[in-house]
Amino acid sequence: MPNQTELLRIKNLVAELEALGHRGSATSNERAAAELVQEHLENLDIEVKLQSFNGHTSYGTRILVHLLFGFIALALLFWFPLISICLSLTTFVSFLLETSSFPNGLSSIFSGGKSQNLIGRIPANKQALRRIVICAHLDTQRTGWLWEPRKLKTVASILGQAPGPLKAPLFVLSLILLTQTVLGIIALQSTVNVEPSLLLIVFSVFYVSAIVVVGQWAVGSFVPGANDNATGVACALAVAMRWERSEHDDTELTVLITGCEESGLIGAAVWARAHQNELAEIPTAFLNLDTLGCRQLHLLENECALNGLVCEYPEALLELCRSVATEMSLEMAESHVVPTHTDGLAFLVRGIPGITLTSNEVGNFVPNYHLMSDRSENLDFASICRATDFAWRILLELEDFGTTKAEVIPGEVSC
Ligand SMILES: [Zn+2]
Repeated sequence: MPNQTELLRIKNLVAELEALGHRGSATSNERAAAELVQEHLENLDIEVKLQSFNGHTSYGTRILVHLLFGFIALALLFWFPLISICLSLTTFVSFLLETSSFPNGLSSIFSGGKSQNLIGRIPANKQALRRIVICAHLDTQRTGWLWEPRKLKTVASILGQAPGPLKAPLFVLSLILLTQTVLGIIALQSTVNVEPSLLLIVFSVFYVSAIVVVGQWAVGSFVPGANDNATGVACALAVAMRWERSEHDDTELTVLITGCEESGLIGAAVWARAHQNELAEIPTAFLNLDTLGCRQLHLLENECALNGLVCEYPEALLELCRSVATEMSLEMAESHVVPTHTDGLAFLVRGIPGITLTSNEVGNFVPNYHLMSDRSENLDFASICRATDFAWRILLELEDFGTTKAEVIPGEVSC
């Protein structure tokens, strides 16, 4: 039976965030939402800082930039092979960086808009031996044809059967850019004129279709984002409130509400980079909360960037979560067939261990995902309360770990 006062608080915060219409990445609505959450945190007597950074309003636009540069490089292949090779390689490196949460690639030539993280800190009563970061993103994604549920299910079932990194939705772009580079080198060395081959026709078809689909998504409307991720923010605040009202001698809690997750994990990456010295001083683990309003809770076992890079969550932390779930008689859903990425990727690639808690419905499906129907009337609030209880238990378990530096946070990250 959920705690009724906490349930009401969660419902109210989700409703307040939803009432803004949307919280599109790096928009004034995202800013208004951050100010609203800041007020809630300050009402809990938590010291909060607002960390501003250059964000981006559209992940679609950032990917589109790489598709366009890649297509231009393909078009130049037989006439200007050297220019084509340079352009393909630059696009490849930029695409790898930007889709792995390093935001300084080709799309940074376009103005991105201001965004912000909220950083709440509850210090330890005595000397802090460890830090736990409870994290949830505040911004919402743009909708588009891409997210139409039937198409999404079909694509997911095709990708789900693909081997290894081919499961990542845009690993194929990395492959195409590398193949173009090799073809460019062959064209450069060959004295014989090479005619456009079937391969190049296939690449062109890929670029044109991807540019149309991604282009439509790039300018789509922002969704209300009740499930993704007002639920995570409400859960993070509920957990912070419990923490603030109890005694914690040697563990510091950071409440990190990120901006621009949906446009490329920018807020989480900015936070990790700005705090690298503090992160080196005290062992830190994160608990990332994303999309908690479906009936079955679910732990991500790995993060997979669109380009195919896979980072595994530390097995020791997963084990800990599984044993807590068993004690609480919580049934966790199966792993996603198609890998996905969250703010957790930005932490794991920087060597910060942690866990991501999310939820889905039967068949690994999140209804209303990135659609205008992502509204609170479609949420299972009991599940958000279960997630809050679970997150709370995980925090307490982490707090009980050993006191020597090597023991305070279990588990190694592997990327
Ligand atoms: Zn999300």
